[in-house]
Amino acid sequence: MNPLQRPGDLVPETPGSLSARALWRDGLPSERRWILGGWALTLVVCVLLGLEVVHRGWSGIPVDLGGAAAYLTFYPPLPLCLWWALSFGWRWGAIPAWLATLALALDAGMSPAWAAVFACANPLGLGVMALGYRAVGAARGLRSLRAWLFFIPLSFVAAVFSSAGALIWTFSRDLSARDQLPIWQGWWLGAFLQTVMVGGPLMALTWPRLSRWIARRPALFTPPPSGRRAMGLGLLLAIVLAVQGFGLVSLGLGSQRLRSALGGHDWAALEEASRAMLSTAWVFFWVFTLIVLFVAQFGYQSLSRWLRSTEALVAQLARVNAELEQRSRTDGLTGLANRMATEEGLRALLRTVRRYRTPAALLMLDIDHFKQVNDRHGHAAGDAVIRALAGVLKASSRDVDLPGRFGGEEFVIGLAHTDLAGARRFAERLRARIADAPVAVDGGASITYTVSIGVTDLREDDAGVEDPLRRADAAMYGAKQAGRNRVQVDGVDHRGGGDGASGKA
Ligand code: GH3
Ligand code: MG
Ligand code: MG
Repeated sequence: MNPLQRPGDLVPETPGSLSARALWRDGLPSERRWILGGWALTLVVCVLLGLEVVHRGWSGIPVDLGGAAAYLTFYPPLPLCLWWALSFGWRWGAIPAWLATLALALDAGMSPAWAAVFACANPLGLGVMALGYRAVGAARGLRSLRAWLFFIPLSFVAAVFSSAGALIWTFSRDLSARDQLPIWQGWWLGAFLQTVMVGGPLMALTWPRLSRWIARRPALFTPPPSGRRAMGLGLLLAIVLAVQGFGLVSLGLGSQRLRSALGGHDWAALEEASRAMLSTAWVFFWVFTLIVLFVAQFGYQSLSRWLRSTEALVAQLARVNAELEQRSRTDGLTGLANRMATEEGLRALLRTVRRYRTPAALLMLDIDHFKQVNDRHGHAAGDAVIRALAGVLKASSRDVDLPGRFGGEEFVIGLAHTDLAGARRFAERLRARIADAPVAVDGGASITYTVSIGVTDLREDDAGVEDPLRRADAAMYGAKQAGRNRVQVDGVDHRGGGDGASGKA
């Protein structure tokens, strides 16, 4: 593991969910006990706390937020369910959230049908949180500023969605405009503050251990979903809906209240309604600011993620291209330059000869009676001989030389800064070295083989590399004719046993 990695990074950024079935089937007894037991306990505690909220009147409590009158609802099941939803998947949080609100609503005398709908409010908010994390894959550990910059605005969007419940509550109970605003504002503000101030720290505290466990038990989790683009779109849609809905309801309820106070000519009520409207307007401003920042940040993160992946892709493409290019120039059997690359190298060598008037030479080698090697020892042994010869060529050449495999058992070497006499000495050394280096092949046999070498120089007036190649080939043919295992220099008559030909050492 990279030592710089924080524990939260062990887990893929895009969360998968804990599969209850996999946990039941493959989980250790202690895992089953802790998770299922903890979840059942959470469920019971959430239901009891939900009932308490109504009995103790923790809903729509007026508070003074630095001079602005606001309302807060204290709903402790929410951060607990959030923890389950973010850690293990939406369902793990949504079920206790739904049941707790359902119990609370039934206890307060709401009809079962309304209660069932009303209970969806918090699961909806949790769904927005889960969607946000799935779409963006921000760090769930909340141990960096960036992670919090994502978490806080997302919490607001989720809170606005869940506060749709407040509208159902007031609608189903026929409450007056005066009572609607506190409940609505209390709900979203309460949900938002509790998510940020309790849910967030809970995640930050527990995530290091939890993520280590998740990293150890990937089999218990369903893989992260694909289709991030659709989820990103869904998240943006949720944000737009939340802001629009929030503005509409906040300002709508506030002005409705103000209007009814205006009609009543009641000074105290009018003053209270005006104050509420003022603070609503300011809250609206701050909410707008928060959301604009969030969208900007979200856009920036998406853009940089996109740029990073594009850059990585381009780098990978360049690597693959370079590898392909390298492969397309290399002979698979020997690792030497193949015919195309050899000819290219020779063309460059010919250019330097023309421009700088330095000498350069070309050797062409062909293994003698190679068919017999194949026939006697098999094709694999033949290959081993070809590889061995390539090894000798590599070992004998300098950096600037250009050894290459030209065809079956035919090789060429371009020699830079080498005149014909030097090339001949080199060829002679090579020939002797090859003849003295038998190749051990599978099956214990040792194959002694020889080569015939044709030598020529590269000339300024050569029209192309085909010219020296033809000369080298002709010289090599001459060496074959003269009895093989010998060096023949182009243009030198070997038949007289003259300068150019050299017999077996
Ligand atoms: P010569 O001395 O006249 O060159 O005789 P030779 O038997 O070597 O004749 P030639 O050069 O015409 O034959 C080349 C043989 O090399 C034919 C082919 O079966 C064999 N060969 C070509 N490429 C490979 C290869 O990659 N592996 C093996 N094992 N054999 C090859
Ligand atoms: Mg041959
Ligand atoms: Mg041949």
